[in-house]
Amino acid sequence: MRDCIFCSIAAKKTQAPLVYEDDAVAAFEDINPQAPVHVLVVPKKHIPTTLDLETADRELIGRLFEVGNRIARERGIAERGFRMVMNTNPEAGQSVYHIHLHILGGRQMHWPPG
Ligand code: 5GP
Ligand code: ZN
Repeated sequence: MRDCIFCSIAAKKTQAPLVYEDDAVAAFEDINPQAPVHVLVVPKKHIPTTLDLETADRELIGRLFEVGNRIARERGIAERGFRMVMNTNPEAGQSVYHIHLHILGGRQMHWPPG
């Protein structure tokens, strides 16, 4: 999709280096990290919000979580604990309308989230 920053990053049209890539999924460092590890995992397909998911996207969503687990293990936060977050729409704080799974870890997380 034109003018979508995460489509551009996933297609390697920007300077943001990918930390993971396959045919359907890309991952990169969050530009404004909220924890020692803060990686975003995105589908290469442009999907604005979780509300736009279709039945055909079921496997793709599973792959986002598989990649999230892989990154957590690679960064050494899997056993300590980490958080996977996907925000939907304004009150949840979604600011980029291309779905992305936040992988956050490396510090104690709090609950409930802010
Ligand atoms: P949201 O608020 O939509 O759940 O998360 C969007 C995330 O994308 C934020 O954590 C923000 O820091 C990150 N972000 C926004 N623009 C860019 C960008 O151009 N590059 C990277 N690497 N991250 C971005
Ligand atoms: Zn997009």
